[in-house]
Amino acid sequence: MLPQRAYNFSPGPATLPMEVLQQVQQELLSFKNCGASIMEISHRSREFSTLAEQSIARLRRLMNIPSNYEILFMQGGATGQFSLVPMNLTVHGKADYANTGYWSDKAIQAATKLIDVNRCTPDNRTYTSISKFDQWQLSPHADYLHITPNETIHGVEFFEFPNSSEVPLVADMSSTICSRPLEVSRFGLLYAGAQKNLGPSGITLIIIRQDLLARSSSDLPRMFSYREMHAHDSMLNTPPVFAWYVLSLVLEWIEQQGGLVGMGERNAHKAALLYAAIDDSDFYHNAVAHDCRSWMNIPFSLVDTRYEADFLRLAAAEGLRNLKGHRAVGGMRASLYNAMPVAGVQALIEYMREFERRRG
Ligand SMILES: *Cc1c(COP(=O)(O)O)cnc(C)c1O
Repeated sequence: MLPQRAYNFSPGPATLPMEVLQQVQQELLSFKNCGASIMEISHRSREFSTLAEQSIARLRRLMNIPSNYEILFMQGGATGQFSLVPMNLTVHGKADYANTGYWSDKAIQAATKLIDVNRCTPDNRTYTSISKFDQWQLSPHADYLHITPNETIHGVEFFEFPNSSEVPLVADMSSTICSRPLEVSRFGLLYAGAQKNLGPSGITLIIIRQDLLARSSSDLPRMFSYREMHAHDSMLNTPPVFAWYVLSLVLEWIEQQGGLVGMGERNAHKAALLYAAIDDSDFYHNAVAHDCRSWMNIPFSLVDTRYEADFLRLAAAEGLRNLKGHRAVGGMRASLYNAMPVAGVQALIEYMREFERRRG
């Protein structure tokens, strides 16, 4: 008998498509009849090389990545990139950073150890909106401009991007990558830890414009150099083979769901359902400005916070798991990544209405 699967609203590592997990299970003991699992064979083997090449080609197709961009896979998560971005991209030792929430703040803290960081956005301690781009104070000789298009903890998302034709736009896409179509050519570099929308933790995606590879100084340790990683097809050493494999299955799944257009439509629909349920009630509340409400992470509170522990406990008993908000914000948070089905959102809304009827 299959074990019961809950609707898992975890912010990350996050829910994976059922079809992907089933394929992993099927292929676990013998990958493509090679007599061993993908974890047990060389990353230089024909089986793994084919998988790696196909996954890169598929991602290029899915995201419509122009030919003057390269795709790298590294380890160390998005947090590793917080340091690798300044190490590799700095020329004059100075960059602009937008501070829009918890994760951009973390990126700023890491970069500050390495370069001169200009916080270009007006001070905003509540992180419930994004300031207008014309209020950003960009510095004249910045090496790049860093943004966090989806703030996973505060539930704030960019639906437009600043125009930065002068300097490369760098974005931490960890919690929004592949959730909808994206114009890659607007960016110099994109990075994302895989464990929100692309697969398991342990693998990090970097998409970099070719000309920026030349910025990696030859003084950098090779493992930390984008240029070296690219020169060795992301296999300077043993890559995280299992994570890469699951990621390749997730990309295949996204393609089968209608690609990023299909994902975008479904994600917009899921988010609209949940925001409407929150806004239509006096019992639940979301504080984020309407024009930047995340499709992926929806924080909400109970107007009467005394009921929050009960809300979470009874939700878990109904198979609605991992709804607790981040400690920095409190309350609840529903993460509605690609792999969360519409039915999961509907079940959550039904539960919220029932809970309100009983306690409201
Ligand atoms: C989860 C997350 C991170 C941290 O990712 P790690 O892979 O754990 O380092 C960074 N930025 C954003 C936007 C995230 O959602």
